[in-house]
Amino acid sequence: MGGCSTRDVIAAVRAGSEAVTEHRDELVRLDREIGDADHGENMERGFRAAVSQVESAPSETPGAVLKLVATTLISSVGGASGPLYGTAFLRAASAVGDVTELDGTAVAAALQAGMEGVTARGKAVVGDKTMIDALSPAVDAAKSAAGSGHGPSGVLAAAAEAAHTGARNTEELVARKGRASYLGERSAGHVDPGARSTALLLGTFAETTGV
Ligand code: ADP
Ligand code: MG
Ligand code: MG
Repeated sequence: MGGCSTRDVIAAVRAGSEAVTEHRDELVRLDREIGDADHGENMERGFRAAVSQVESAPSETPGAVLKLVATTLISSVGGASGPLYGTAFLRAASAVGDVTELDGTAVAAALQAGMEGVTARGKAVVGDKTMIDALSPAVDAAKSAAGSGHGPSGVLAAAAEAAHTGARNTEELVARKGRASYLGERSAGHVDPGARSTALLLGTFAETTGV
């Protein structure tokens, strides 16, 4: 149950970028149904830029990496998801401070802070059919896993599983925030793209973090 080092966080960001690229078409397809078909491109552009920043400027702490990802997402993604994910990473960075290794409790706290950032910025609540519907159950699961003594990989695995269920459950919801809300009742019957990308990222972070 090792801690999560700066190098682990960089590896997770790189793997997240690869996963987003791998699932680009799926994210585009989901966003085509209830949005403007750019979520795959937005995520790919943002995370590619983040990886190139993180690899070119050596960061000394997990928090510094998270902060660099945040500012890069905010400046490189035009869609709603850029500032929202950017704010999540920024709050996560503040939550972890300048420690050099994250334990399970720190990872759970970072996820919670990230979700609070998305909420502060986008004002969505659970049930509005947004990334919050993946993040909120993920945070609950992460806190409970950390509370029962799990390290970063166990905490992220619990978060990822809950996020996947949360994302799947957005299918039946009617969107009340973001572009999909323009469709009203017609937004039901499709998984929310941002909830899907949140589950995808958390799943990837869980796979890359320790054993
Ligand atoms: P845009 O809608 O500007 O084209 P994206 O397609 O990249 O941006 O991202 C859309 C996703 O952003 C949605 O699927 C949803 O999960 C998320 N989203 C949009 N508005 C909000 C909000 N107010 N709060 C939380 N998440 C939101
Ligand atoms: Mg879009
Ligand atoms: Mg757009």
